[in-house]
Amino acid sequence: MGFILGVTGGIGSGKSAATQWFESQGITVVDADIVAREVVELGQPALNAIQKAFGDWVISNDGSLNRRALREHIFQFPEARHTLEQITHPAIRQSIVKQLQQAQSPYVILVSPLLFETNQHELVQHTLLIDADEQTQLDRASQRDGQSEEQIRKIIAAQMSRSEKQKRANDIILNDGLLEHLHAQLKPLHLEYLQKAEHCF
Ligand code: ADP
Repeated sequence: MGFILGVTGGIGSGKSAATQWFESQGITVVDADIVAREVVELGQPALNAIQKAFGDWVISNDGSLNRRALREHIFQFPEARHTLEQITHPAIRQSIVKQLQQAQSPYVILVSPLLFETNQHELVQHTLLIDADEQTQLDRASQRDGQSEEQIRKIIAAQMSRSEKQKRANDIILNDGLLEHLHAQLKPLHLEYLQKAEHCF
């Protein structure tokens, strides 16, 4: 595998806005959130394993994962999260690695809100944090998802703190202005990454 860049940031920080720009420059983006949903789709081995571990109640009438029931179960029995993750994490990692290997672009991006929280950072050579203050995160995420500020605050609280992520990231972009400002900050980094990618081979 060539040069792999990990992109992370809290909810609403602008990870997708950033990776959309990288895609417009021809860079392949593997999205850990999308992979996490794919591995529990109908017919996937991880879905069968979840059904075996928890029981038939985790499956909806249409055969898909009943996310709401599972969420409520984990809320009641927090240790169930561990059981679930023991099934899903290896499947997610395997699929991410496969997609990273198949990528054809000069370098490739793995975008994940939990890059540092999970072992996913081991898969990348360099990290970029898309950073924003909490109020900006709240405003953007509530507008995008229609979730209440309280729900988004809970998600932020469950993620690694902003300062810890700032300490760990190799590069940081503060996404506190217009999209044009974000893109203008991404451009010189993209040129740097292209250089790094050339030296990878
Ligand atoms: P994340 O993927 O980190 O959760 P998104 O990239 O989806 O965040 O951004 C959250 C919302 O805010 C989206 O609707 C996005 O279009 C918007 N957004 C992100 N960055 C900016 C910006 N600089 N200016 C205006 N809107 C933005």
